[in-house]
Amino acid sequence: MTRKIQLDTDTLLFFASIFSNAHENCILIMNEEGMVLGVSSSFTAYFHYTEDDLVGKFPRMLFTPEDQQQKKFEREIENVRTQGFSSDDNYLVNKNGVYTWVSGEAVLVENNRKEKFIVKIVQSIHEQKTLETSLRNSSNFVESIFKCMRDALVVVNGSFTIQKANTAFRSIFWPSHQQVEGENLFEINPVFSTASGLRQKIQDLTTGNDCIPDGEIELVAPDGKRRNFKSTLSLIEDEPATEKRVLIAFHETTAEREANEQRDDLIGFASHELRNPLANMVLCTELLQDSIEENNPEEAQDYLSRIKFNINRLNTIISELHDATKAGSGHLQIEKKPFIFEDMVNESIETVKLLHPAYTIIKTGHATIQINADRYRLVQVMNNYLSNAIKYSFESRKVWVHLQAEAGQVITEVRDEGTGIAEDQLPFIFTRYFRAAKTMNVEGLGLGLYLSSEIIKAHGGRVWLNSKEGEGSTFYFSIPLA
Ligand code: ADP
Repeated sequence: MTRKIQLDTDTLLFFASIFSNAHENCILIMNEEGMVLGVSSSFTAYFHYTEDDLVGKFPRMLFTPEDQQQKKFEREIENVRTQGFSSDDNYLVNKNGVYTWVSGEAVLVENNRKEKFIVKIVQSIHEQKTLETSLRNSSNFVESIFKCMRDALVVVNGSFTIQKANTAFRSIFWPSHQQVEGENLFEINPVFSTASGLRQKIQDLTTGNDCIPDGEIELVAPDGKRRNFKSTLSLIEDEPATEKRVLIAFHETTAEREANEQRDDLIGFASHELRNPLANMVLCTELLQDSIEENNPEEAQDYLSRIKFNINRLNTIISELHDATKAGSGHLQIEKKPFIFEDMVNESIETVKLLHPAYTIIKTGHATIQINADRYRLVQVMNNYLSNAIKYSFESRKVWVHLQAEAGQVITEVRDEGTGIAEDQLPFIFTRYFRAAKTMNVEGLGLGLYLSSEIIKAHGGRVWLNSKEGEGSTFYFSIPLA
């Protein structure tokens, strides 16, 4: 709204005296209703309005549409009238539409004729605000990286007090505590004291000395698992006068250590396991030679079948090793074809019987149904279950196989009355390389059950067992029919 205004000389002089000394601040003078009576030249220069644009008007156009909708101008005038002043930081819209962050303060003043005016002083804080926003953005950015990093990150000062830590750090090194800031790094978890020279390295970095900023620590997690971390320290480049701080990143290397250990184990196992049947074959070949020279065909036949047995054994070891590396990298191949499940079981029982004629394998139940699966791989599972039942039976000479085809699946169980497995070792039986303590003296790689479970899983089935030490074991696998 525009209104023609007439101001007397005294008032104009009064305004001029207010405007004259203000160069940095932009000033608007309004009447008690908020209509502009005068505007300083710094205001018009800064925000590109002319006096005519403002004088005699209610300056709502200085507010953004959002602020206008919230009636910011009206509320400001109301506040000044009732409380004598009002202040706020908001955007001021320039005549060319550009927004500038300003800090504004409006006060109610009175001249000697008791006439009241509102003096509004506006100062641009655009640069501060822009800087503040970009600082906030970059701090949010750093904060979110810090938070989502899987590596454990911690910032400590020269007295080892934790200044900041991410979620990964807390959950690994100080679980079940919300706040770690303010604690001493070496008091929250003894693992840090075991890290070679960590204390010294922090001291060296914060006092300006050189150090090798890498190290390693090992931690035993609450579940008993060994976890390894590589630590990397770096000095945070702050202003010279501020306290020196060090960022420590702990990168987990457990998987690398385990892979190295597995590789070493594998080489160890393989050479140990291959040596036995080979040595046996060398011996049998020499004895076979003697039997031929002595023209003793019965003995020669015996040595020949022993050599055959060892060739079989070598074959199994080599394919287990080969399959285990394939299964480990998710490349175990399954070729499904339809066949009668029970035929596959019978084939396996016959093969194992031939290899172990002294044992009786008793089959109960039926599964004369057709399934779509990898027959060769399922024979491998059956052979493994059956040969384990025999291998770990010791005195007992009987093994039971039971088949059961029920709604949607076929279940096979292989039971023995052998050595059994201790309860605390049951959860690990299908793990790669696992061998129960009691059976360490028996030949084996600890791969057969792992492979069996991988094969059954690849068919969408399940493996499990019941076992009691000294009483025997029952191993199961199920295959879905669909
Ligand atoms: P391997 O027999 O070559 O060691 P497996 O993966 O077939 O490897 O078996 C893993 C371990 O599980 C064996 O070393 C043994 O300790 C235990 N185990 C398997 N089957 C039986 C069983 N029927 N009775 C007792 N222990 C068994």
